Amino acid sequence: MMIMTATENGQHARVLIIGAGPTGCTLALLLAKVGVPVALIEQNAVPQQHPAACILNTRTLEVFREIGVAEKILAACQNPFERWRITWVVSLAGRELGHQAGTEDLETALALSPAVHPVQFPQHKLEPILWQKIEQDSRIDFYRSHQFRHLEQNGDGVNVTVENRTTGETVVLTGAYAVGCDGASSHVRRALNIAMNGPVLQYMMGIYFVADLRRYVEHRKSVLYWVLNRNMLGVLIAHWLPTEWVLFTPYYPPQQSPDQFTPDVCLDLVHRAVGTYDIPDLDVKLVRPWVLSARLSERFQQGRVFLAGDAAHSFPPTGGLGLNTGVQDAHNLAWKLTAALRGRACPELLATYHAERRPVAMANLEHSVRNFENMNELNKLVRLDFNKLKTLQVIQNARIFRALPNAWQRGLVNAVLKLALRRLALLDRDGTRGERVRAQFQALLPGQVAHYRFLGLDLGFAYSLGAVIPEDSPKPVPPDPVMEYLPTTWPGSRLPHLWVHRNATRLSLYDLVEPEALLLLSHPQGQELWRAAVRAVQSDCAMPLLCRSIGRGGTADLVDEDSNWERLSETEATGAVLVRPDGHVAWRCKRAGSMPHQELHAVLLQLGCRCSREAAETPINT
Ligand SMILES: Cc1cc2nc3c(=O)[nH]c(=O)nc-3n(C[C@H](O)[C@H](O)[C@H](O)COP(=O)(O)OP(=O)(O)OC[C@H]3O[C@@H](n4cnc5c(N)ncnc54)[C@H](O)[C@@H]3O)c2cc1C
Repeated sequence: MMIMTATENGQHARVLIIGAGPTGCTLALLLAKVGVPVALIEQNAVPQQHPAACILNTRTLEVFREIGVAEKILAACQNPFERWRITWVVSLAGRELGHQAGTEDLETALALSPAVHPVQFPQHKLEPILWQKIEQDSRIDFYRSHQFRHLEQNGDGVNVTVENRTTGETVVLTGAYAVGCDGASSHVRRALNIAMNGPVLQYMMGIYFVADLRRYVEHRKSVLYWVLNRNMLGVLIAHWLPTEWVLFTPYYPPQQSPDQFTPDVCLDLVHRAVGTYDIPDLDVKLVRPWVLSARLSERFQQGRVFLAGDAAHSFPPTGGLGLNTGVQDAHNLAWKLTAALRGRACPELLATYHAERRPVAMANLEHSVRNFENMNELNKLVRLDFNKLKTLQVIQNARIFRALPNAWQRGLVNAVLKLALRRLALLDRDGTRGERVRAQFQALLPGQVAHYRFLGLDLGFAYSLGAVIPEDSPKPVPPDPVMEYLPTTWPGSRLPHLWVHRNATRLSLYDLVEPEALLLLSHPQGQELWRAAVRAVQSDCAMPLLCRSIGRGGTADLVDEDSNWERLSETEATGAVLVRPDGHVAWRCKRAGSMPHQELHAVLLQLGCRCSREAAETPINT
């Protein structure tokens, strides 16, 4: 065993990130962007090979824009607006049961965000882009093929022991903080002894295959094709139309298990979903089980160690929020870790990570579970109630049943499931009865829309506890807070996007947000007042503060020709909005009082900013 301390590149690795999935990579790139050294530890030698998650929502693209990968993704992705729909079929080659539009049009999407919109971009194409960016960054020591073993922490820092999987050598890496981004079965979480609670909802097999299915989909490009027939219940995810697909289908352990999905079985399942055995170029690439669960970690932080992404929460995919929530965790944590490392934040600021992110993860989890259960409404139409299959699972695990020979157990389970699926045949029946049930099926489809349209969850999530100064007024909410987004500066919300001009340059308000500073946005009428307040507090506050005014012209720093900021800011002429480095509103003052600098000073203290310059360390590696 060899022990060494990670000081490659002449840097002390200040933040140790375990796991180079989407969450870990995003965090590493956000930290490196502001000069914080990172050691990124990943057990695998190559990125994810399975397409896995595919929906990247608008807020994720905004974060990816910050780390410089959004443009590449937007250039490489297939046109999302051409295929943004969900289709239900008996099989791809068979009868269509209905479809629903999945999202807004391009114009609506671009009105809400600076040059980005949601895309469908599979994880096995995303991760190589992130890894490449990481390899180009000298601030990041990338430990591929290194597996996390254990960690120790004290008041000064964290030691993480990792094993080089190629040589067997053990390395001890030191850092000021560590973040477990090591996925749903996180070893970091286990090392911290933090419980992760919640039920398993379903066991699924994900069969990744390549086949040109153009003739079945060209006329109805979709993201998902739900397949309901007597031989197959599952979903075909069109990761790359018309050739790259994943078929997800359930299995029922312990009598059914992943090892039964042999190449022949997988081929047969794909044929049943497509509805024909005539697929000459069919090639099954990879088969992976996935346990769909709804689990939330009790804590997202313990001392100097944090949990983010699937390590902290795991959702069923019915909502497409897993990867997206992890990216937002990283975004929330990055500026807080940076402020702490620079000596600009009190420990309380780091504690707000748990306070802010756990409720958002809980809301996303509840939404995903609601969708999962709501899907059952369609099955119930033909009396295939998944809740009844829960009884099967109880029987499967009963001692008396387990006492039967294995082959009998398996045979009985297979037979019950086969019988249950037969009910789906009604959906494809010719004649009046079939037509009636298909009409009922179609009538239920609008009730599934919130599953696929969730702009409110994407852009409208807000932090009510944490590094925000709450207001007594309730958050303004649109009629449907899941599907619709209402721009607001209510503290904790995402700063609304707005195009403004500086000289001849068009900027989004997002381009003004600095990764290491707080940004105070005022109107021209209040700009002198707020500039004076910022000058008065800045000498005492370690956190940099920028002050910008937005108005129609004249003395305004930023020109907003249509005076949209007057409405969007929800403040009066002398009011101001304080924005955090992650683009969320920390505080707003609707109308300046007589002592704005005192008010601002109190706000900074309450946010957890260190308000004495002497307390700040010398900045690291700037
Ligand atoms: C088969 C499959 C299909 C999926 N399909 C969908 C989908 O359709 N829609 C959806 O929304 N989500 C889907 N997901 C979930 C989605 O992939 C996750 O939500 C997302 O990847 C979470 O990102 P993450 O970075 O937090 O964790 P992960 O992507 O799990 O990344 C964790 C990283 O940590 C590494 N790691 C783990 N343990 C160690 C260790 N001890 N030492 C060092 N490194 C370690 C892993 O190798 C991995 O690279 C799917 C997942 C799977 C497995």
